[in-house]
Amino acid sequence: MSFRKILHSIPDIYHSFLPEIFHQDIPPEPFSNCSNCPMIAEKMDAPDSDLAKPFSPHTKCCTFTPRIPNYMVGGILSDIDPSLIEGKERILERIKLKKGVIPNGIYPTKRYHDYYEANAQNEFGRSKKLRCPFFVDDKFNCTIWKYREAICSFWFCKHLASDIGAEFWKSVTDYLKNIQGSFIAISANECGLQLVDLYGKNTSYELDGENNSFNNIEQYSKTWGKWEGREDQYYIRCFEIVKNLSLDLTSSFISDAKSLEKEVEIKQNELVFLPEFLIADKNAIRAINRNSYQIDISSFIRPTNKTIAWSFQLPKYVVDYFDGNTSTKEIIRKLFDKFSTTLEPEIIISLFRHGILKNAKSLK
Ligand code: SF4
Ligand code: SF4
Repeated sequence: MSFRKILHSIPDIYHSFLPEIFHQDIPPEPFSNCSNCPMIAEKMDAPDSDLAKPFSPHTKCCTFTPRIPNYMVGGILSDIDPSLIEGKERILERIKLKKGVIPNGIYPTKRYHDYYEANAQNEFGRSKKLRCPFFVDDKFNCTIWKYREAICSFWFCKHLASDIGAEFWKSVTDYLKNIQGSFIAISANECGLQLVDLYGKNTSYELDGENNSFNNIEQYSKTWGKWEGREDQYYIRCFEIVKNLSLDLTSSFISDAKSLEKEVEIKQNELVFLPEFLIADKNAIRAINRNSYQIDISSFIRPTNKTIAWSFQLPKYVVDYFDGNTSTKEIIRKLFDKFSTTLEPEIIISLFRHGILKNAKSLK
């Protein structure tokens, strides 16, 4: 896999609003291979038997319910792409049941939100109680992928560049969340509706319960006003409003955009940085035979607050070239000339950020 533009990880609807930094290249995230998820436990009756594979095949990491922005709900409802048929039905069902259906979008119910807050540390990646309502047991699990929200777009269980990778994606998530918030507000406002805080401490909203009823009909009617009973049309209208927004208008609404953009730029620079001279830390690797080293890696899984350990192998002749005296560019050239081996920069970034290769200058 080669480098790709940041933009390519972001849903199409945002592309025309993104500044130049999003056209910069970044390494891929090959350790998070969702179509062949490396985090699925082989024996679900004993999911703790392999600590490197803590998740259930029936949930993967989709034990989270997204806050789908109003205009993205409208995108799902108005798009004729066959890949969205199932997602569309699920959205319509939620609207029918009034489950987390608010002018902001389709959100987790307050009940789900409170359960997640209390239980995610133990149940993330495993519990069907936390499973996303848009997840389907299949090779491709998301029924609304084209209109996914920021957290779903930029969540990776294992980062190629370790903590720097996590920080980079956090900066992109923060930027997108800021745009999302602005677009939600602009479109609701234009439709004459007020946004709702479902989860604040003093919120009086509890729009649905276990039995799919909602507790306060009057409150629901007041929230939806003239759009009550036509919530699907409201969401489609929000999508049309956002699609037709002009760049000038949005920049006056998008608060903090400059500082968030700067943060993306700083993190992107760190992510692609490679020292000129690198040296292999022989304490961080193990020779497992005459030809190979085993590379042990650890990844912190934030929602579970746990670190998992896993490993892969690399040929000795590749690692041994990093002697601190030969430049990284020279090593790449020599490996190609002598062994026809193409050492991709993302592999070097990964080894550097996981502490297998060290900056030789900082050791002198
Ligand atoms: S991000 Fe989720 S689905 Fe993708 S590889 Fe990681 S755990 Fe599996
Ligand atoms: S919206 Fe899609 S990607 Fe996000 S949690 Fe649900 S199934 Fe997973």
